[in-house]
Amino acid sequence: MSAVQRPLIVGAGPVGLAAALFLQREGHRPRIVETRTEPAPQSKALAVNPRVLDLLESTGVTARMLELGSPVRGMQFHRNGKIVIQIKLAGIHPKYPFMLGLSQATTERLLAQAFLAAGGEIERGVEMTRCQNNAGGVAVDLKHIANDSPESVASPWLLAADGARSIARKQLGVDFNGATFPGEWYLVDAPLKTDLSPEYAHIVFCRDGSFLFIMPVFGDEQFESSDGLLWRILGSRPNPLAQLDGAEPAGAPVWESSFHVAHRINAELSVGNVYFAGDAAHIHSPMGARGMNLGVEDAWVFANLVRTGRLSEYDALRRPVDQRVVHEVEFFSKLIASDAAPFRFARRYVLPIVARTPLQARIKRTVTGLDHPLPAGLDLPESPSLPALATPHFV
Ligand SMILES: Cc1cc2nc3c(=O)[nH]c(=O)nc-3n(C[C@H](O)[C@H](O)[C@H](O)COP(=O)(O)OP(=O)(O)OC[C@H]3O[C@@H](n4cnc5c(N)ncnc54)[C@H](O)[C@@H]3O)c2cc1C
Repeated sequence: MSAVQRPLIVGAGPVGLAAALFLQREGHRPRIVETRTEPAPQSKALAVNPRVLDLLESTGVTARMLELGSPVRGMQFHRNGKIVIQIKLAGIHPKYPFMLGLSQATTERLLAQAFLAAGGEIERGVEMTRCQNNAGGVAVDLKHIANDSPESVASPWLLAADGARSIARKQLGVDFNGATFPGEWYLVDAPLKTDLSPEYAHIVFCRDGSFLFIMPVFGDEQFESSDGLLWRILGSRPNPLAQLDGAEPAGAPVWESSFHVAHRINAELSVGNVYFAGDAAHIHSPMGARGMNLGVEDAWVFANLVRTGRLSEYDALRRPVDQRVVHEVEFFSKLIASDAAPFRFARRYVLPIVARTPLQARIKRTVTGLDHPLPAGLDLPESPSLPALATPHFV
């Protein structure tokens, strides 16, 4: 066993990194281990919401994000080549009335850099193979992948930020309740020739009843293309590029993938001294842009409960919030994507009306993460004055 007990974070995705950064700044010196030897290069989550921009402000990461990202000011819904609904985020937040378009890979790089600058270290190539609660905390087995050497550590607590297939969740027998959508969703990041505004995310209702989600990809240089602006095209049919109407590929795709969409949440967000955050705690469709953003908020709440000695409140404070978001995103995803007749009817005849009523405010608050207050007693820290917004890439 290691002599000095340090808190342990498993997983250096955006959620583990955010938790590590918040805790390091509070002087907790967490250990963070990550199986992957290199950061993941994929764009994945494309938007940082105003709630997370607020939470990261005091760390300096928000200022860097604003330099590299680009504001997405709302959503446009298209049918038969026409914009049928437009939702603008103007006025939703005093400082950040937009979603910040920024690839997840860039977000992770900025979080990692800030954590390292605060004196932290990311232990890459180290996999957690076992965790078990005991009287003093958590007993954890690690494997150092390069030399296949084991290490056993004792930790006062463990934050499982180990993603959707969480080993910790399986080890502790926590149910992952919810359902998986039938079929797969398909994504492509590719340069496009299009008149679509890069200041909006676009949802296109196709003639065959399926949908396309189209949004620009901003971030580090791997997300820039000499063929023009890079866009994410996501849909529920294979080869979404072939379904484009009013836009055409301007170069080779830089990333293609497919995945199953599920909406699930852990039956418990804490078991003994093991706590779950991010995809290890809840998963939902990318519609609504909440996965990474909700996880970073989990991390912020967790770190503040550590700071204030209130860790026992984590499950009670976090699970109702996470559960409501999972249900809301599931409903919104069905409304956009389900082949079931009631949802097809609703998106054709009800959505346009709803989107013009005060209910529009609810959709906006869900997407921006401003649909619930932060827990009482965990206030945002004082932050430096807001830096000037970087000039968007596209003007
Ligand atoms: C196509 C796509 C689009 C998306 N779009 C959005 C969006 O627009 N907005 C949004 O908010 N979210 C979006 N998401 C969701 C977002 O990507 C995830 O919610 C986010 O990655 C969750 O972060 P995490 O840190 O919890 O988990 P992960 O990013 O999965 O990180 C977990 C880390 O733990 C490591 N790990 C796992 N097991 C172990 C172990 N035993 N030992 C050590 N390390 C381990 C993994 O290697 C990984 O690096 C999207 C996802 C996809 C796939």
